[in-house]
Amino acid sequence: MAKIKTLGRKKTVAMVAHDHKKADLIDWAVYNKTALATHDLVATGTTGKLLEEQLGRPVKRVLSGPLGGDQQIGAMIANGEIDIMVFFWDPMEAQPHDSDVKALLRLCVAWNIPMACDRATADFIMTSPFMHTAYDSILPDYTDYLNRDIRDNE
Ligand code: PGA
Repeated sequence: MAKIKTLGRKKTVAMVAHDHKKADLIDWAVYNKTALATHDLVATGTTGKLLEEQLGRPVKRVLSGPLGGDQQIGAMIANGEIDIMVFFWDPMEAQPHDSDVKALLRLCVAWNIPMACDRATADFIMTSPFMHTAYDSILPDYTDYLNRDIRDNE
């Protein structure tokens, strides 16, 4: 049977923005300040600092992305602690932590986390009725993977 994770009315929203995308994310967050007020926010170091300043509310901050922050958010996703991901990554600039960026994108898909990588998608997610009601998220079933016979690989 499919495993369900019920997200409550109050969601935990993780936010990360690369340097050239920070202004865009902050602008979006300020525009959605009232809607975001009912949710908990988590962000990488610098993004979180800017969000705290501009929204005037506490944001749980992990390390700066290139210093391990993306991986910390990834660990929170794997632990079921993040409900929504807003990740404004920069398509025009290579990052020193490109491998961590890829890992974060992968974990969101691996755990069926709604993820906005641009403003339009963030608007669609933010205006979804599920943002303000409980939502039953179907967790991918990794039972076959976990029970795989590794002797086949010998
Ligand atoms: P930052 O990290 O918010 O600390 O700048 C963002 C990132 O992951 O690059």
